Amino acid sequence: GSFIHSHGTKVFMRPKLDDVLDAVQQARFNEKRWVWIEHEQYGYVRAHVLQDSDGVIEVELDSGLTTRVESDKVYPMNPPKFDMVEDMAELTYLNEPSVIHNLTLRYKADHVYTYSGLFLVAVNPYRKLPIYSDDSIQSYRGRRRGEMPPHIYAVADQAYHDMLQDKENQSILITGESGAGKTENTKIVIQYLTTVANTKRDNKLEQQILQANPILEAFGNAQTIRNNNSSRFGKFIRIEFNMQAQISGANIEWYLLEKSRVHQQSPQERNYHIFYQLLNADESIKEQLLLGNGRPSDYGYTKDSNSVIDGVDDAEEFKTLMKSLDIMGLEHKEKLDLFRIIAAVLHLGNLVVTPDYRGDRADIKDFAAVERVCHLLGIPAQDFKNSLLSPRIKAGRDWVNQSKSPSQVKASLDALAKTLYERNFASLVERVNHAIDGKKLSDKMGFIGVLDIAGFEIFKVNSFEQLCINYTNEKLQQFFNHNMFVLEQEEYQREKINWSYIDFGLDLQPTIDLIEKTNPIGILSCLEEECVAPRGNDDRFLEKLSKIWDNDEGDAKYKSTRFKDGFIVKHYAGDVEYSTSGWIDKNKDPLNEDTTRLLARSTQRYVAGLFEDYLNDTSASDYRDIKQQYHQRGSPTTTPSTRSSMISSSAASSPSSSSLTLFKLRKGGGSFRTVGQRHKQQLLSLMNTLYMTHPHFVRCILPNDCKHSGEIQTKLVLDQLRCNGVLEGIRICRKGFPNRLSFADFRKRYEILCPTILKPNQFIDGRTACQQLLDQMELEPEKYRIGTTKIFFKATVLAELEEVRDRRL
Ligand code: ADP
Ligand code: MG
Repeated sequence: GSFIHSHGTKVFMRPKLDDVLDAVQQARFNEKRWVWIEHEQYGYVRAHVLQDSDGVIEVELDSGLTTRVESDKVYPMNPPKFDMVEDMAELTYLNEPSVIHNLTLRYKADHVYTYSGLFLVAVNPYRKLPIYSDDSIQSYRGRRRGEMPPHIYAVADQAYHDMLQDKENQSILITGESGAGKTENTKIVIQYLTTVANTKRDNKLEQQILQANPILEAFGNAQTIRNNNSSRFGKFIRIEFNMQAQISGANIEWYLLEKSRVHQQSPQERNYHIFYQLLNADESIKEQLLLGNGRPSDYGYTKDSNSVIDGVDDAEEFKTLMKSLDIMGLEHKEKLDLFRIIAAVLHLGNLVVTPDYRGDRADIKDFAAVERVCHLLGIPAQDFKNSLLSPRIKAGRDWVNQSKSPSQVKASLDALAKTLYERNFASLVERVNHAIDGKKLSDKMGFIGVLDIAGFEIFKVNSFEQLCINYTNEKLQQFFNHNMFVLEQEEYQREKINWSYIDFGLDLQPTIDLIEKTNPIGILSCLEEECVAPRGNDDRFLEKLSKIWDNDEGDAKYKSTRFKDGFIVKHYAGDVEYSTSGWIDKNKDPLNEDTTRLLARSTQRYVAGLFEDYLNDTSASDYRDIKQQYHQRGSPTTTPSTRSSMISSSAASSPSSSSLTLFKLRKGGGSFRTVGQRHKQQLLSLMNTLYMTHPHFVRCILPNDCKHSGEIQTKLVLDQLRCNGVLEGIRICRKGFPNRLSFADFRKRYEILCPTILKPNQFIDGRTACQQLLDQMELEPEKYRIGTTKIFFKATVLAELEEVRDRRL
C-alpha cells in the first residue's frame, strides 16, 4: 500500500483488492470525470460529467439519467484507491459525499471504526462483532496508530501510552446521539484499561470498577424508542494509575439525570430499569418493601409504560445487580435502603389525590396508602399527609398553613418522587465511589478520564434540558477546536513556518457567553434571577432576556421566536429554537419544604441522610439571602479555589447551620439548589479537569433509526457528522496545512516526478533538494510551506501529487 503522513503519523492504506483489480478500477475511473451530486432521497448519488460550462454542469447518473446541476452542487469523487481509507483526512477531496461514501463502504464491510484527523468515528454495528476479544486487545497493545485498523482499543492504548510516556493525565471524550454507542464504547475502553493495566495481585479493584457499570445502568438507564438501554445521565469516569502503571482507583461523576422519567414516560418507553427489576425480585425482598406480589401494571409510575424489553429478563437482571452490589461490598442493609427508596417512589405514585368535601382543597382518602409510604420512609404518616395537603409556610415572620388544590398536591408528590429518586442515585454513586476509590496512595502517576455524554439535541420542541445539554456540547466543541488549534500551532512553531493560525475555539465564545455570562446577564443567570424574584415567571424571564440580547446585529447569537414564545440560539451545530414554558419550575425544582424537613428527621438513617441539607432549614428566605451574597460576589466562573473560598465566606457570614449544609459539596448532587447553577458549576469543574488533560476524541454515530445492523441512512448520518464536529474538523483542517512529509520521505517519493534535477552521487541537503523539486513541479507557493524538517501541504495537494505519480509509474 501507499502511505501519506497525516498529523505526523504514518498511515498505511492496506490494499483491499488485489493490485490488478485496483489498476483496472483506476483505469476505468480515469476515463471519465466522476462526481457526486445532491439527491433528494439518497443524500448524494454518483454521476459523471458530460459537459461543463458557465457554472452549470451536465451530468449522467449511474441510472443513465442526464441532468443539469449548478457547479457548486457538484463534488469531485475520490479515485477508487481511496475507498475504505482508514483516515478520512487523507482523502484527496474532503467533501461531505466522500466522507459519507467512505463511512458507508466501511460500515458494510464491518469496519465500524474510522479515523477523521483527530477524531475516531464509531458507527454502531448493532450486532456483536468479533473484534473485542482478548486476542484483539493484545494485538493493540503498544502499537502505534496506523499499524492496526482503527479501533477504540487503539484510542485507549494511545491514552495509556501517552500517560506513561508524558506523565500527563488523559481524557477520552465520547459523544453522540442517543443509541449511537457511547456507553458501549465507554465500557470497551474500561475493559481495555483494566486488562492492560492488570497486575498479578488480586484484581478485586478492577472487578469493582467493571461492576460499577451494571449498577449505574440499573438505576440510570431505561428503555427508550431509540435505545433499549439508554443512559439517562452523563458521566465522567476517572481511572487512576500509580507509578507502576497499575490501576489504583477510580471515580465517577454524573451529570443531568433525567428525573421526569420517574413520574412520566413517553409511549413505548419505560421507567428506569430498577423499578421492573425490583418488581421481579424475590418475594422476601418485595415483602419487606410492602410490594407483595405487585407487578408494573399495579403502580401509577410504571403502569403506562412497556413492562418488558425484548430479550431482557428483569428477574435475571436483578440477580446480576445483586451480585454487582455484593462485589462492590454493599451490605444487606445498604442494598435494602436503596430499594426502600425505589419502593417508596412506587407507593408515592399510587397515592390518589381527590378534592375534599368542600371541593377546592385536596384530600388523600386512603390513609393506609399514606402509611405504607411513611413506613418505608420512616416518617409519621399524619404529619406527612398534613405537609402535603396544607404545608406550613413562612409568611413574613409567622408560620401559616396553606391549603393546596388536588393538582398542586399531585405535583408535589411527583416532585418528591423525582427528588427521592435523584438523591438515591447520587448516594449510590457516592457509595460506589467509596468502594472503588482505592487506597489514597501517594505515588500517583495520573488518570485517564472517559466522558460519556449526550451530543447536541435539536428536537421539534426544545426545552431547558436541551439548553443544558447543548451548552455542554458547545463547551466541549470549543475544547476540541482549541485543542486542534494548539496542536497545530505548536507543530507550525516548531517547524518555524510562516502562518498565522486562527483559534477556532474563539468562534464559539459568543454563544457560550450568551448562555453563561453574568454581565451582561446571560440565559442561565437571568433565569436564576427570575427564580429568586418574588413573582418571577417564565414570561418575565423571556422578556428580560429579549431586552438584553435581541438586537439587530448581524452576528447576534440570540433571536426571539416568531410568536415571541421562546428564543433561538445560534449554536455551533445549528439554530435551536427553545420554548421557555415551565423553565422557572424546571430550574427551581421546587420541593415541599415541610415534607423535606420531615424526611431530614426520618427514623431511617439512610433517608434522613439523603435530606440532611433540609435539617433545621427553616425557610426558603435563608436561601435567598445566600443567593444574594452569592450574586454580589459574582459568578463562580473561575477556578475551584475561588469556589471553595466563596463557600466558606458565605458560610461564615451566615451563622445558621442551614447555610452550611446548603453549600455542602455533595458529589454529583451539588452545592446549588437550582438545576442550571448546579449544572454550570459541574460543567466548569469538568472543563477545568479536561483542560488539564491530553484529550482523545471519539464520535459515535447512529447508522439508522431502526436499530438494524448493516444499514446506513445517509441523511441521518450526515446530520450527525455536522453536529458532532467531524465535518467542521475537516473544514478547519483544510484551512491549515494538514498533510506533512519529512524531507527524506518527500524526496524519495516524488523524485520520480523530476528525474532530471538530482544527479547521481551529488550531495544536496534535504531542504534544498525539496525546494528544487517543488520549483520544478511548479507548485504554487501558497500550496505548501517548508519547515525545518518537514514540508507541509494544503489539503488535496499531496493527493494530487500522488495521482501524477501514479500516472508516471
Ligand atoms: P448510547 O450510550 O450512545 O445511547 P449505547 O452505547 O447504549 O448508546 O448503544 C445502544 C445499543 O447499540 C447497545 O445496547 C447495543 O445493543 C448496540 N451497540 C452499541 N455499540 C455497540 C458495539 N460496539 N457492538 C455491538 N453493539 C453495540
Ligand atoms: Mg448511553
